[in-house]
Amino acid sequence: MTSTLPNDNIRNFDDQITNKLISEIIRDRIKNSGKRFSANDNISDFINPGELEILEKEVASRVKDLLKSLVIDVENDHNTQETAERVSKMYLNEVFKGRYHEQPKVTSFPNDKNLDEIYTVGPISVRSACSHHLVPILGECWIGIKPGNKVIGLSKFARVADWVFSRPHIQEEAVMILADEIEKLCEPKGLGIIVKAQHYCMKWRGVKEPNTSMINSVVRGDFRHDLSLKQEFFELVKQQSATNNY
Ligand SMILES: [Zn+2]
Repeated sequence: MTSTLPNDNIRNFDDQITNKLISEIIRDRIKNSGKRFSANDNISDFINPGELEILEKEVASRVKDLLKSLVIDVENDHNTQETAERVSKMYLNEVFKGRYHEQPKVTSFPNDKNLDEIYTVGPISVRSACSHHLVPILGECWIGIKPGNKVIGLSKFARVADWVFSRPHIQEEAVMILADEIEKLCEPKGLGIIVKAQHYCMKWRGVKEPNTSMINSVVRGDFRHDLSLKQEFFELVKQQSATNNY
């Protein structure tokens, strides 16, 4: 592989023989394991300690090239001199941290009291970016649970939602991925998730509709099979969205 990049410190120090970029090394590992690395996949299992810092340098170098291609004078424009480094850090450690960092620790507990009444948590703020334009998707999410064998603390739902949404997404898939993660963590008898979000690719560009939002939902287990339970879930969320700011 003969990539030419101006700054050689973005190459992996442990890989002098092949002289591969760290992104190429990580990509090869994922391919060899047969896994996907789509924009909304978490790839933290394939990043070794210390490699994220090297990746940060590589991404910064690429963003700098992007700015140069946009004919921005990154050498003399004091506003953009460190933009490449800032954008790289922001992508890897903030807005797309759900791709590069492990899931936050969530401890689940046995449902000793056999709780089986449904409850809802929300609104939980969710922040993402569309996979098509990499511009923000900002919204709120409500999660409904009919407990199964395990329970997790209420704040953990917000942590897991933040981790899942902090990736480039399309909203329909984000909701499914969040549902998969919550099912893994607490194995509920029933699960419902509603997301309402505004898409900046509709607000800021394209049709430029400032107030349009998208709502979608997923229901699983008992919420799917039991119509009255499903209705109870949607009713609770309706009350929750009307009673903010206690
Ligand atoms: Zn878009």
